[in-house]
Amino acid sequence: MDFTRVTATGLLAQLNAGATTSVEVVRGYLDRADRLGRLNVFVHLEPEAALAQARVIDGKRRAGERLGPLAGVPVAIKDVLCVEGEPTTCGSRMLKNFRPPYDATVIARLKAAGAILFGKTNMDEFAMGSSTETSAYGPTLNPWDESRIPGGSSGGSAAAVAASLAPLALGSDTGGSIRQPATLCGITGLKPSYGRVSRYGLIAFASSLDQVGPFGHDLADIALLLGVIAGRDPMDSTSVDAPVPDYAATLDAPPDTLRIGLVREYFGEGLDPEIEAAIREAVRVYEAAGATTKEVSLPHAKYGIPAYYIVAPAECSSNLARYDGTIYGHRAEDFSPRSPGEEDLPPMIRMMMASRAEGFGAEVKRRIMLGTFALSAGYADQYYNQALKVRRLIRDDFDAAFKEVDVLLIPTSPTAAFKIGERIEDPLAMYLSDIYTITTNLAGIPGLSVPCGLTRSGLPIGMQLLAPAFAEENLLRTARVFERATDWHTRRPEIV
Ligand code: GLN
Repeated sequence: MDFTRVTATGLLAQLNAGATTSVEVVRGYLDRADRLGRLNVFVHLEPEAALAQARVIDGKRRAGERLGPLAGVPVAIKDVLCVEGEPTTCGSRMLKNFRPPYDATVIARLKAAGAILFGKTNMDEFAMGSSTETSAYGPTLNPWDESRIPGGSSGGSAAAVAASLAPLALGSDTGGSIRQPATLCGITGLKPSYGRVSRYGLIAFASSLDQVGPFGHDLADIALLLGVIAGRDPMDSTSVDAPVPDYAATLDAPPDTLRIGLVREYFGEGLDPEIEAAIREAVRVYEAAGATTKEVSLPHAKYGIPAYYIVAPAECSSNLARYDGTIYGHRAEDFSPRSPGEEDLPPMIRMMMASRAEGFGAEVKRRIMLGTFALSAGYADQYYNQALKVRRLIRDDFDAAFKEVDVLLIPTSPTAAFKIGERIEDPLAMYLSDIYTITTNLAGIPGLSVPCGLTRSGLPIGMQLLAPAFAEENLLRTARVFERATDWHTRRPEIV
């Protein structure tokens, strides 16, 4: 089987027709993972565990038992999701030895759907970053150009799909971590509406922004995986009890109307001209397919990055307080006083300080300090509460725009994949990678990134489509109009 041409939907057809078995498929992917180990996609992959799941599914298929919608299909999992009994590190030294005692809800749903859990993928530490370079386990390489980053924080999951190490993957997106790596790796990725997918068992970064979502090569695969993971979960009170449409079945129905908004503020300074040209070309594709396009404005979008870098660190400083070596996380062995004054502290406090100092990397520490400052007495009004007001204004901007159009078409990333090492010493440059993705999380609406071109040097370009909250069905259908008219989603890196 030519794994570089496989999609999950195609694979299911072959499995159901008896043309192949899940064991054969898993063996093929394991073989590729072996050969492409240099990409550093997986932080944990247990061949025997994957094969054992495949054997069970093959047995059920042979016996004619009823099978779930992903029966026998490998899915790579970002290492931020809890899998019972398996290492779940969040890309951090802090959780190096953590084996969760339970499954995240999305993992339980994958298992029930018959999916094969195919490895845990590399990521920026605690999902903080845009390049997968803040991982304690080293960077993942971009399959299109191994001197470049795959994007982040779900870089391992995006690279897994791009390099055909799995047909599907799960990621998480707090400010762009599904859409930006999807774009830089030339694949499709969706951040669902806040509340569409359960966060139970997703290790929290910023709880009011985090959302789990799918990576795949095309929209049929995205629709399939979204259908499996979406829906109300009593274990997550922020998951919404809205009906889950059969996204895969309705994908090819034409969108109700095709009114596309181009956001004025998102076509300007900082946007690479090659990317702008690819997006403008996509607009022409839509117009040729009968869409009406019009310019709309998100006047507060420019405050998205500053508001996010208050809200997200504030929530992270609180969420990450639990990792102090007592119950959760790395525990320092040596916590003798390290600097003057520490000898007066109780040993337990010194143990926590040393454990956190050793367990967390530089970016996580920076966020914790920023967040603690923004929430501290006397500053909360000036920073945190102000940021919440800006967040509200950003949401209102989107509401106003969606009165005029059905979807917004914008870039996903201002540049194509950058070089490993290029931005890691410059946090502000790194933070600007998410300029087009962050407002979506602040507003809670869905964002979908689809491939729409290649740069002259052969790097993938993606575009982003945004829709009102819970309008994923129409969002996917709108994207499908573009997919049908182009072949960017079929391009693969030259990696064997
Ligand atoms: N790059 C952004 C950050 O570092 C977004 C990360 C994410 O979505 N998890 O916060």
